[in-house]
Amino acid sequence: MFQKILVANRGEIALRVICAARELGIKTVAVYSEADRYSLHVRFADEAICIGPAKSARSYLDIPSVISAAEITNADAIHPGYGFLSENADFAEVCETSGLRFIGPKADVIRMMGFKQHARTVMKKAGVPILPGSEGLIQSSDEALEMAERIGYPVILKATAGGGGRGMRVVRHPSELPNLLASAQAEAGAAFSCPDVYLEKYIDSPRHIEFQVLADLHGNVEILGERECSIQRRHQKLIEESPSLKVTPKLRADITASLKKAMGDIGYTNAGTVEFLMDETGMLHFIEVNARVQVEHPVTEFVTGIDIVKAQLRIAMGEKLTDILKGPVTLTGHAIECRINAEHPETFAPSPGRLTGWNVPGGIGVRVDTCAYTDWTIPPYYDSLVAKLIVHGRDRAEAIARMNRALSMFVVEGIHTSIPLHQRILADPQFQAGEFDTNFIPRFLAKKAGA
Ligand code: ADP
Repeated sequence: MFQKILVANRGEIALRVICAARELGIKTVAVYSEADRYSLHVRFADEAICIGPAKSARSYLDIPSVISAAEITNADAIHPGYGFLSENADFAEVCETSGLRFIGPKADVIRMMGFKQHARTVMKKAGVPILPGSEGLIQSSDEALEMAERIGYPVILKATAGGGGRGMRVVRHPSELPNLLASAQAEAGAAFSCPDVYLEKYIDSPRHIEFQVLADLHGNVEILGERECSIQRRHQKLIEESPSLKVTPKLRADITASLKKAMGDIGYTNAGTVEFLMDETGMLHFIEVNARVQVEHPVTEFVTGIDIVKAQLRIAMGEKLTDILKGPVTLTGHAIECRINAEHPETFAPSPGRLTGWNVPGGIGVRVDTCAYTDWTIPPYYDSLVAKLIVHGRDRAEAIARMNRALSMFVVEGIHTSIPLHQRILADPQFQAGEFDTNFIPRFLAKKAGA
């Protein structure tokens, strides 16, 4: 049983973890940078320690500072949230060797999932569908050319250690391949200290659909349905929903069964997400595992009624999934999340600054996860997410109507936000019909610019 945990993160996710711990009677320690002194996660934690200056590299990403904060405060475990150190296998290892439980998968599993080509191999072995592509890493452009010929263009070169959409190149013609291979390798080497790339079939208009996993320390795995995350700009998700309109009960059952086996074989523990792309024929193909809790986890919480962050803490304390879930996983109604970012809704320029006015919507089926409050100043140093607005309805139409209502009551003054953009997307007939793919936002913005 944990007495006290340290939350190695900031913003809404730090507060989200504090909420879960408090409901379980576990004390919390917040860490913060000098820029976050007045953040709500600092205020609501039982203890708080400043771990450095605003720059993340010297605070939230500084492993010795985070570990010292946990040691000084006598914490039993560390929750890394998402981003920052959450998928850093070395950090997970240092936690364990320092006698601190890392609330996430084991270090070697995080490391394995961080190499996407490796993850592809293990998924394929367990019967999870993957895209046609290289069996291993690309050794030469001749090999890549031969493979691309076999699979058929377009193909995509991807950094095995990649993240955040970097180290990827779409190749539409053999003549482009050698140069694109060199640039993908160079970008990957600079960004991830690992130039290795692999190749797979490129799907032109995919839907991004991901499955939520929970796995305990006793070999039990459960899948909590899927999330549809196709509404994204430059690989950043803007709107997520659950369930996906395009996932039939049969497809859900098939993927659930293959993922239970795959995640069991891997020795996966705690929470995680398995991402897929859906092709034009409705087939799902594995792309990668995110070995952490995700920004969009609340839509799954709404439709399953399961508190994923509390489940993470209980799993890390050794509890069995059967005791945590108390029955089979069922999906009820429809949930949608809009990410409210501090950015201009048309130019997407960051818009940090003081919140002179702030009213959060409420009412039935409405949830707001945020660290913001009136008169707080959003610092310019971190990502632009200021709040997540999540709604639940009995069906998708009710969820959309509820989201519209909630967006109209969400008042943010002093900065620009993505609220007007969300309102326009929700009014779009194709969004309403559920007819979209990952190119929806570029098309939508071009249409608007041309109008
Ligand atoms: P990262 O870890 O950098 O986010 P992913 O493997 O998750 O990389 O891919 C990021 C995004 O790139 C996907 O959400 C999708 O939009 C696009 N993408 C990746 N692989 C393919 C593919 N084979 N075909 C089409 N789009 C792809």
